[in-house]
Amino acid sequence: MSKIAPQPGIMDIAVYQGGQSKLEGVTDVIKLSSNENPYGPSEAAVEALRKSAYGLHRYPSTDHKELRDAIAARHGLDPDRIICGVGSDEILSFLCYAYAGVGDEVIHTEHGFAMYRISALAAGATPVEVPEKDRTVDVDAILAACTKKTKLVFIANPANPTGTFLTGDEVLRLAEKLPKHVLLVLDGAYAEFVDGFDGGAALVEARTNVVMTRTFSKLYGLGGLRVGWGYGPKDIIDVLNRIRGPFNLSGPALVAAEAAIKDVDFANKCAFDNARLRAWITKALNDLGVATDTSYANFVLARFGSAEEANACDAHLKSQGLIVRKTAGYKLPEGLRITVGDESACRRVVHAIAQFLEGRT
Ligand code: PMP
Repeated sequence: MSKIAPQPGIMDIAVYQGGQSKLEGVTDVIKLSSNENPYGPSEAAVEALRKSAYGLHRYPSTDHKELRDAIAARHGLDPDRIICGVGSDEILSFLCYAYAGVGDEVIHTEHGFAMYRISALAAGATPVEVPEKDRTVDVDAILAACTKKTKLVFIANPANPTGTFLTGDEVLRLAEKLPKHVLLVLDGAYAEFVDGFDGGAALVEARTNVVMTRTFSKLYGLGGLRVGWGYGPKDIIDVLNRIRGPFNLSGPALVAAEAAIKDVDFANKCAFDNARLRAWITKALNDLGVATDTSYANFVLARFGSAEEANACDAHLKSQGLIVRKTAGYKLPEGLRITVGDESACRRVVHAIAQFLEGRT
């Protein structure tokens, strides 16, 4: 054991567990554990990636101008207020490194995404967990938890792993009531799955204390490439760019993401199908007596009677080649988070859960 000690907080980090993707001895696995797009990436993105292979000897762009322009054009944003990162994870960690350090507090909510705590600890700051109300972010609880030391508040909208959504009025109330020294981060990893929702972009435009993060990993089906972005006040984006590595995104990742965001038809089709199958799977689960909240994302959190029942159901699903995500690590031991797959995957998972419930009685 080395006597060379890491910085305070680092050893408190529990290493992030990605969604399981393999089952011993099963070849025909259906992975519904990482909220990936069941239709894969757009063909246009794949083509751009293929072409980029011939330019691999070149360093990529450092300012990501083409990608930022494409994102700005798609969403009606100012490209100078966009920053691109290695997944939105990297933007979350830039925010922590830039704005929170030893002695500072970073608020995340009870069932909030694991990277908020990890990024806060990595920056030396103290993560502060705030209760939710019925698996939904509670604005009053967040406001009550703010202290002089609070620097950042992270909320995902829609949230992962619950899929719940905080209304625009509530998000605005939070932004307005936060103390002046606190930055609100709206994580919009699943924003594209909410029809007509801007992820908080208009709020970012209207205020000086709000940043939004987005990703190409979910609707755009590019999780394997690692591309995300942030939108914020110009001065904050300038700060984040100072700690961003100059070549953080590879050339292939940049061109594929640019092609993906321009393929509006494909994205719309995927979002439409997700909404249809999300409604179908939710109703099918409820008809079986499995509780869910209304999900606004590309997954559904199925809640069973107990942790034991959720674990037993998970084991049964695995025996059928279906991998979903246990949510005990998110303080929801009775839950299984199921990504909305394609139609056949949805039918298979519902059928297997029905089988499990029948076998139990
Ligand atoms: N935020 C939330 C709420 C997520 O669920 C995820 C992915 N699991 C991310 C951020 C990070 O996504 P990525 O780094 O792939 O953009």
